[in-house]
Amino acid sequence: MSEFSGEWIDHVMIYHTFRAYRERIGRYRLAGSKCKSCGYLWFPKRHGVCGKCNSQDLEDYECKHEGSVVEYTVTDNPFTPLTGSHLYGTGKRVIAMVRLDDGVYIWTDLEECAPDRVQVGMRVQMVLRKWIRESNTNWQYGYKFVPA
Ligand SMILES: [Zn+2]
Repeated sequence: MSEFSGEWIDHVMIYHTFRAYRERIGRYRLAGSKCKSCGYLWFPKRHGVCGKCNSQDLEDYECKHEGSVVEYTVTDNPFTPLTGSHLYGTGKRVIAMVRLDDGVYIWTDLEECAPDRVQVGMRVQMVLRKWIRESNTNWQYGYKFVPA
């Protein structure tokens, strides 16, 4: 906890700022890869070789921003207070496996949704939210999902 702002700043873990910067488009727009040979979709973005058919012919692909909840869990592990997961009750954090409409599976935080409202099959859509505060105090933004 910062003595100046009251915000939680994690000094224990070191976040790789440059890597986070390079991968920002993937987090902001769900940018992954599509194999031109076999059509398999990858998220996050894959560099080099398709893991399914070993083709090196990959192209950028923006995953669908909507999907439905396949599985979820509610944890007591609060995220950074300012990311909003404290809004519903006791700092519970909802983490969900979402199947996007193009078939890509993704583990994500579910925001703006009370833990007792979550259910399998619920429609959700992507939003851009704060992820975590890096050790250099920059905010790292990325995808989360909210009920559609
Ligand atoms: Zn392939």
